[in-house]
Amino acid sequence: MSELHRNLIGGEWIEGEAVDNINPSNTNDVVGRYARATAADTEKAIAAAKAAFPAWSRSGLLERHAILSKTAQEILARKEELGRLLSREEGKTLPEGIGEATRAGQIFDFFAGEVLRLAGETVPSVRPNIGVEITREPVGVVGIITPWNFPIAIPAWKIAPALCYGNTVVFKPAELVPGCAWAIVDILHRAGLPKGVLNLVMGKGSVVGQAMLDSKDVHALTFTGGTSTGRRVAEASIKVNRKFQLEMGGKNPVIVLDDADLKVAVETVAQSAFFSTGQRCTASSRVIVTEGIHDKFVAALAERVRNLKVGDALDQGTEIGPVVDESQLKQDCNYIEIGKSEGANLVVGGERVSRSTPGFYLQPALFTEATNQMRISREEIFGPVASVIRVKNYEEALATSNDTEFGLSAGIVTTSLKYATHFKRNAEAGMVMVNLPTAGVDFHVPFGGRKASSFGPREQGRYAAEFFTVVKTAYTSAG
Ligand code: NDP
Repeated sequence: MSELHRNLIGGEWIEGEAVDNINPSNTNDVVGRYARATAADTEKAIAAAKAAFPAWSRSGLLERHAILSKTAQEILARKEELGRLLSREEGKTLPEGIGEATRAGQIFDFFAGEVLRLAGETVPSVRPNIGVEITREPVGVVGIITPWNFPIAIPAWKIAPALCYGNTVVFKPAELVPGCAWAIVDILHRAGLPKGVLNLVMGKGSVVGQAMLDSKDVHALTFTGGTSTGRRVAEASIKVNRKFQLEMGGKNPVIVLDDADLKVAVETVAQSAFFSTGQRCTASSRVIVTEGIHDKFVAALAERVRNLKVGDALDQGTEIGPVVDESQLKQDCNYIEIGKSEGANLVVGGERVSRSTPGFYLQPALFTEATNQMRISREEIFGPVASVIRVKNYEEALATSNDTEFGLSAGIVTTSLKYATHFKRNAEAGMVMVNLPTAGVDFHVPFGGRKASSFGPREQGRYAAEFFTVVKTAYTSAG
């Protein structure tokens, strides 16, 4: 039997009930065995983080810089191996897995630099002979709860800034993908983090996550996941006056205008909707197309989607890996049935397919003749399912794209500077893409959305300081 990967609490690796991490490309393949933490373990982890906070918050900049930098170097040196682990446990294709591991390394590298760049402001008071200093301080114990769809990048973009700014951490990854989470915690631990600064509690959201939500000693909580869980985080956090940050779902539009370059349009939409098996919060599932280009665009896109190679995430040439698990596959298939019953036209895909190994394979589904009122256009499916909505002109396209409760990412494919510029200003989304897929935000720029997609400050880049620090305004009188 393979070695048990244990939780890290107060600097010690702690046993727990073993849970198998299953490969969605081949359910006979057990990626590894991971210890499940209990609510009591979680409380110990929070206590350890609280005890470690005073020293870590005052630790030398060079110590923090060295640990984050060493972590970045190890992740980048091991990016193929970590990318393979990611693809094996989550189902992204190997190039996508390696790309995500690389991004995690780059994030640690960025925040290693940010340790040395933290600055404040001094301003004169409106009163004479009085000076004001504005500084940033760490928040305290940060709880980190992450989803399964970016098993290494999302933990990296929360853990790196939390540690950079002097916070201590209790980290709970999604139970489906403990492998990458354990690997980066192991790397950080060996890079020299003092005991209790970073604690790993793998396990169920309803147990471990809930224990974090219930604790008044978690001073800030950063969450990425579904909207309903996000609301629980918000309610629990308000009760204990905790700072919180939510990144949640999306129903991202991509507009294709008559003047678009057809090839660019097809590739942009195919990538936005179906790559990473459509399991990205920034994936676009509403394709809003103006009349003049509609028929030829749909024909070309259907051809591209029909030829997408669905297969084992680790096989060379696979473009679309499996869905992450049986329950997500059921959800995808259920929405495909809903789309049909609502009167949308399924032009290609949508059926479960088999490969040489037992896995959760779904042929990407493309609907046409959808309306923006259908459930498939309003609710997040989180799979390789997209629908085309036909509109008359740019004005209707913009109104349709904004007619959603979400507001994460929005795209437009056009050769018109006028429409591109107007769309950038008027799209109700946190991130806007012109002639580019709706997913794919660099690691050094802000990430986040509006409306039901996000709450609180942006993640990533220098904007991360907003959540992971508190501002202090201090006065001195010259006497
Ligand atoms: P969930 O909301 O189900 O889970 C997210 C995390 O919350 C998991 O670690 C989960 O634990 C945990 N959790 C579940 N219940 C509780 C609870 N009661 N208390 C505390 N924590 C809990 O989302 P998924 O993992 O299914 O991820 C998919 C969702 O994430 C999609 O809706 C997607 O749009 C969104 N997402 C948003 C992104 C963004 O930046 N906006 C980026 C990526 C994904 P466990 O699952 O282990 O039980």
